[in-house]
Amino acid sequence: MIKLIACDLDRTLIPNGYELDDNGLEIFSRVAKTRNFTLAYVSGRNWELFEEARKEFPLPLPDYFFGDVGTILYKKDGDGMVEDKTWFSYIDKNTPNWNWNAIAKMTTHQEARLQEEWRQNAYKLSYYVDDISMGEQVTDEMRKILAETNINADVIYSIDPLKKVGLIDILPKIATKVTAVEFLRERLTINKDEVIYCGDSGNDILPLTFGYKSVLVANASNEMKDNVRILNNKNGNEQNLYIAEGNEALNGNYAGGVLEGLVHFGALKPNQIEI
Ligand SMILES: [Mg+2]
Repeated sequence: MIKLIACDLDRTLIPNGYELDDNGLEIFSRVAKTRNFTLAYVSGRNWELFEEARKEFPLPLPDYFFGDVGTILYKKDGDGMVEDKTWFSYIDKNTPNWNWNAIAKMTTHQEARLQEEWRQNAYKLSYYVDDISMGEQVTDEMRKILAETNINADVIYSIDPLKKVGLIDILPKIATKVTAVEFLRERLTINKDEVIYCGDSGNDILPLTFGYKSVLVANASNEMKDNVRILNNKNGNEQNLYIAEGNEALNGNYAGGVLEGLVHFGALKPNQIEI
């Protein structure tokens, strides 16, 4: 029986990619109202951007929201959500030498400027790199500096394609999408095979190949589909992976693909997602 459904947001539940959307999120939202499973979002969005998404899209309120690339946790509280500090304590325990100010000092770089204060949090230090051609190099230099310390940090580089700016996030190694789901799974005493993870790209690879039941939405790139398929085959997990293809009712993109996967794994009955 499925007890926990963990979903990436952008281009997984939220239809904000280039592929066609067919209003799967409206159906998901309806289904979520009477859910008999715990719903968690695991997203790169911080709290403010999550609230913006909730204004723009019919995104149901989850039971848990891991945001800011896995460095914050909010839990449902009545009709709203409140910050859950237990996740902070967990990160803290596993990253005892984390010190935001010290990291900021040692990673100061002439090609990198600190992002706005609201984009930072106690366990996330973020920079902009305005010259994208320097992004990888700056990231490597920061990685090298941190590797020589006893701080267990990851330096992650990505590009904001709209603003054409490089983004560097320095995070505790323990704060990943998989450790977030594992934290929740332990807290709720749920088995691995009672979890479904749904995603579409990059940082979803880990949770999609970790041994949960996994749903890859149809709008994921072919490269992503191949990677996830190969890794699951290698781990003997092929029966745990479902790649949405679409059907007469829903085209398999975004929330439509999530619904297709939830039906495949028996978390929903086919008649629950009829339009
Ligand atoms: Mg995504």
